[in-house]
Amino acid sequence: MKKQTAITPDTNSSASAKKVSRGKPLLEVTNVTKSFKVGKNLMHVLHDINIAIMPEEFIIILGPSGSGKSTLLNILLGLEPSTTGKVVMNGIDITNKKIDQISKIRYHNFGVIFQKADWVRSLDVLQNTSLPLAINKVRKKERLKRALEQLTKVGMDDHAAYMPTELSGGQQQKVSLARALINDPPIVVADEPTGNLDSVSADKVMNIFKDLNERLHKTVIMVTHNIDYVRYASRTIYVRDGTIVQGSEQLIV
Ligand code: ADP
Ligand code: MG
Repeated sequence: MKKQTAITPDTNSSASAKKVSRGKPLLEVTNVTKSFKVGKNLMHVLHDINIAIMPEEFIIILGPSGSGKSTLLNILLGLEPSTTGKVVMNGIDITNKKIDQISKIRYHNFGVIFQKADWVRSLDVLQNTSLPLAINKVRKKERLKRALEQLTKVGMDDHAAYMPTELSGGQQQKVSLARALINDPPIVVADEPTGNLDSVSADKVMNIFKDLNERLHKTVIMVTHNIDYVRYASRTIYVRDGTIVQGSEQLIV
């Protein structure tokens, strides 16, 4: 682990961000809270979260295990509802939208990579990569052609006929990335994408995100508990116990 002194309290301020963001936020989370019912008790997991993410930012959401990062990602992706507060995706308030409407908005805006990919086990790498296009009723031939193009971009075209579970963790993450990018979304979201990887494979994945951000102008939102990756971000959001923390509190990760 890197020395935590590498991070100064002002890393979180827009003045120190590597890029100056312009225009409207791509994603806005306002006064979001989340509580889960556990038995007879309510467990308060997120407390009054406020985030605005601008186009082309590379955001890292950093916090220890159990701090609420995945819950926050699920809410900002519209995969689960917040208890209170609102989420606006690319100008559209999803708070009271139906699940299928939210799915469509998500599909047009986000490519998502989870720590452990949720493969359809009966389908090979090529078919799995092509799946997001099925929601938009793209014809099968076209789906498979575009899937192969994406696999080529991440260097996995020679594994198109493999079953996903036959691949190593690093190879699976590359295929996840190909699947996430197949619809050319403006925002790429990743939950602990390097969590299961050795440091060499993890660095390769991080460099792919960096390239997506810098060369292809994608907005990247990545969740991690590993402070080493903060150097890739244009802005880091520190989460502790379900709250965004500022200043010297950031130093305790
Ligand atoms: P992180 O991703 O930072 O490790 P999570 O968002 O997964 O944290 O979890 C934050 C807290 O919320 C944990 O204490 C976890 O047990 C709890 N939690 C997450 N999902 C649920 C759920 N569906 N029901 C009850 N508690 C949950
Ligand atoms: Mg998590």
